[in-house]
Amino acid sequence: MSTKMNFKIHILGSGSALPTIKRFATAQIFTAYEEPYLIDCGEGTQIQMRRFRIKFGKIKNIFISHLHGDHYFGIFGLLSSYNLLGRTSQLNIFAHKELESLLKSEFSPIIIEELNFKVNFHQLPENETVIFENKRITVKSFPLKHRIKTCGFLFTEKPRQPNIIKEKIQELNLTVPQILDVKAGKDLEIDGILHKNSDLTTPLPALRSYAFCSDTAYSENIIPIIKDVDLLYHEATFSESDASNAEKTFHSTASDAGKIAKQANAKQLVIAHFSSRYPQVDFLLKEAQEHFPNTFVGFDGMEIEM
Ligand SMILES: [Zn+2]
Repeated sequence: MSTKMNFKIHILGSGSALPTIKRFATAQIFTAYEEPYLIDCGEGTQIQMRRFRIKFGKIKNIFISHLHGDHYFGIFGLLSSYNLLGRTSQLNIFAHKELESLLKSEFSPIIIEELNFKVNFHQLPENETVIFENKRITVKSFPLKHRIKTCGFLFTEKPRQPNIIKEKIQELNLTVPQILDVKAGKDLEIDGILHKNSDLTTPLPALRSYAFCSDTAYSENIIPIIKDVDLLYHEATFSESDASNAEKTFHSTASDAGKIAKQANAKQLVIAHFSSRYPQVDFLLKEAQEHFPNTFVGFDGMEIEM
């Protein structure tokens, strides 16, 4: 698929609460049709964006899953840098309402009103809801099961217009209105002969989707929402042997992540947000793969195209 139609993620931070040199706190760039969206913004996100040569001035929309520090401490530095770099274009932040209160409070390290650009806050709803859409994608937020209010995000590609088979335009001598009808999905009747839309156009590739499940205890509630997703990112903070820790802190084990991917019929699973107690994570991969073989270990700098 051409880069113009790209649909991919770039992991900036694959670690958990305690960032390390190898694994920064959670942040990802999701790109659809060359437009980047920032998902979570842990400490050091702007450093990682520079490291991985992300053109972060182009980001217009930021999605923050929840207000644990490892998912949003980077927002203060990022807003400050945008200001220093002379940003003037508006920025949308989708987050729980407390982030807006925090950034507008007298103790905020950023004085929102004095920035050279406007920040629009969009409060995340409690239920499964479409929170954003443009010509290319739809973003749905849905509740996860964590210690505080937490949302997952589902990015879905919108249907594209079909391409007309060029030879048909000449062969049938199609007019512009007829071409537009075909692109809109209609059949054509010419001189009493019916030409089916499927005979006039090349078949469209399936619509792609990406689900981001930041911090959550094992929750089967999300399965119908993320059903058949092309790529599932699911945290896997703990190993099976630390399952009691996972339960206590409302996190998942690697096998929890594998079970969810399997039941959701995902095409691929990426696990990350590993506890810093594990110097190696190969065994977490094995645990997830026991349930879902097509699992990969996320790392800082990893890019996955859908
Ligand atoms: Zn958390």
